[in-house]
Amino acid sequence: MDIWIRWCHKSSKCRHCGEQIEKHTPVVIGKLWIRSRRFFYIIRWHPQCWVDQGIAALPEYESPYTGKIPGTLSVNGEARSTHVVMSDEERLARKRLVGRWRQYRFRMRKAVEANNMEYVQVLVDKMRLVVEEIEKVGGVPNRWLEML
Ligand SMILES: [Zn+2]
Repeated sequence: MDIWIRWCHKSSKCRHCGEQIEKHTPVVIGKLWIRSRRFFYIIRWHPQCWVDQGIAALPEYESPYTGKIPGTLSVNGEARSTHVVMSDEERLARKRLVGRWRQYRFRMRKAVEANNMEYVQVLVDKMRLVVEEIEKVGGVPNRWLEML
């Protein structure tokens, strides 16, 4: 697969989280060639989703160095391995929450630019709810905690 990153010029669905990739934000493009380069599929991800799905797939290719991958999740402030056993439903719920968080974060940037503090407050409340929800399905990503 050929992979590159560019600005999104037409909003489309992310392969990983299923949420929209907003116009004019970065998008990772995967071009999957089939039948010796005669046809191809285009796959799109949020840049972070591309990283997430890659890291999530890593346990399937056990590290030859430690047999583990470094922890990036946090539960009650304690580092926890990303190699958390989750059911398919939990994994899906988690993906959706991550997608929602990204949407809110994107709107937040716009709201701050527009100096719409009322809407910023609404978004902060929504993001807090997402944090409460994701705590139940694998824990809060560390990078989120830095933003709260
Ligand atoms: Zn995504």
